[in-house]
Amino acid sequence: MAFESLSEKLQNVFKNLKRKGRLTEADVKEALKEIKRALLAADVSFKVVRNFIKTVEERSVGADVMNGLNPGQMVVKIVNEELVNLMGSETTEIQFQPGKAITVIMMAGLQGAGKTTTAAKLAGIFTKKGKKPLLVAGDIYRPAAIKQLEVNAEKQGVEVFSMGDQVKPPEIAKAALEYANKNNNDVVILDTAGRLHIDEDMMSELQEIKDTITVHQTILVIDAMTGQDAVNVAAEFNEKIGLDGVIVTKLDGDTRGGAALSVKAVTGKPILYVGMGEKLTDLEQFYPERMASRILGMGDVLSLIEKAEADIDEEKAKEMSKKLKKAQFDFDDFLESTKQMKNMGGLGSIMGMLPGLGGGMAKGMKNLSEDETDQAEKNMGRMEAMIYSMTPEERRNPDLLNPSRKHRIAKGAGVDIAEVNRMVKQFNEMKKMMKTMTKGGKRGGFKLPF
Ligand code: GDP
Repeated sequence: MAFESLSEKLQNVFKNLKRKGRLTEADVKEALKEIKRALLAADVSFKVVRNFIKTVEERSVGADVMNGLNPGQMVVKIVNEELVNLMGSETTEIQFQPGKAITVIMMAGLQGAGKTTTAAKLAGIFTKKGKKPLLVAGDIYRPAAIKQLEVNAEKQGVEVFSMGDQVKPPEIAKAALEYANKNNNDVVILDTAGRLHIDEDMMSELQEIKDTITVHQTILVIDAMTGQDAVNVAAEFNEKIGLDGVIVTKLDGDTRGGAALSVKAVTGKPILYVGMGEKLTDLEQFYPERMASRILGMGDVLSLIEKAEADIDEEKAKEMSKKLKKAQFDFDDFLESTKQMKNMGGLGSIMGMLPGLGGGMAKGMKNLSEDETDQAEKNMGRMEAMIYSMTPEERRNPDLLNPSRKHRIAKGAGVDIAEVNRMVKQFNEMKKMMKTMTKGGKRGGFKLPF
């Protein structure tokens, strides 16, 4: 299994940490040393390991321990988050051209990395998404590559465009694109020729293809089992021809996982998919979060962390709801709610978080168009600027805001006084409205005041 030994080692480190109720700095240092060893043994690049440990150390030393977690679990939380960051934080999707326009994808990589197989696997995934891909046999040097592509394509029910092994790949690519246009294909996947090692011929051939037709996505296929060599290859391909993403194959046979862990940090390019076996269905979208959980193998702690995070939000929401009921909602609360909203990633969340308000309001919010949401978010930014220009007393007691104070706030936030007046008025309206709503008053037709 992928990451087997890394996973085992990290879990041992955490088991030791979790046993301790309190952690000294020396405990953390010792744990970090172990983590470093485990990552190096997993063949993660040295520089990547060094940066990783440094970040985890900095974050662990100053960290407040969250309610519901012990210090050891807090370190697991930080390591988990940094592993996710290391692998690219978010899942990256292959970007298709809009509408019926053809998306051209060029597969690159060394011989044996898994290009031909992966091209066919991708074609299958695209077909399931409702696309009509065309596979193009561009590996004219490796004996049997064309046949292999044809056999796999047939299993996937996808057509192959081939011109045999005597025509140069850039010409094949050009002819394939013309064919795809006539044939109503919306994705063209070019299989290209690899070599055993990086060489000039291979790079210039790929570059020539790029000069001949528009390639929208250049995807490098690397073999996880070759570890750091694979990462070095990726860095070189990225430098010479420019990559959009990477597919890491044979993760099923790689117990170390170093390539998958380092490639994003070294090249800056995301992993799109991972190959998990020889079968044509064995290609999985890459989810950094899931991969990190898999490596840490700590379902229990990770769900505890999630719960602790949820509890914090819930606590704040309860507190705010209490204040609302007493109509004590002030500018500090407003700032806090915008902060939480940002954390939760949506304008609708602020209302959804307040018990008793969620349903009705959130429904009203969904009616906001994207433009309106954008505008509202911009307005909110200005409101924040104005609140930051207030003194703490003014934030707690909005009634203090007389004309001269408003004038000062306007100057501080770089807006004119009319805007401050408008904001205070809207804030008061919002407060009034919220009071009505918490009393179970009218629910429909609510409009955000910003
Ligand atoms: P190419 O030279 O880059 O086109 O490589 P191929 O597509 O011919 O693949 C080389 C070998 O790796 C083949 O035997 C494939 O079946 C195998 N292979 C490709 N991807 C994976 C994978 O994700 N897992 C496993 N176990 N084998 C794979």
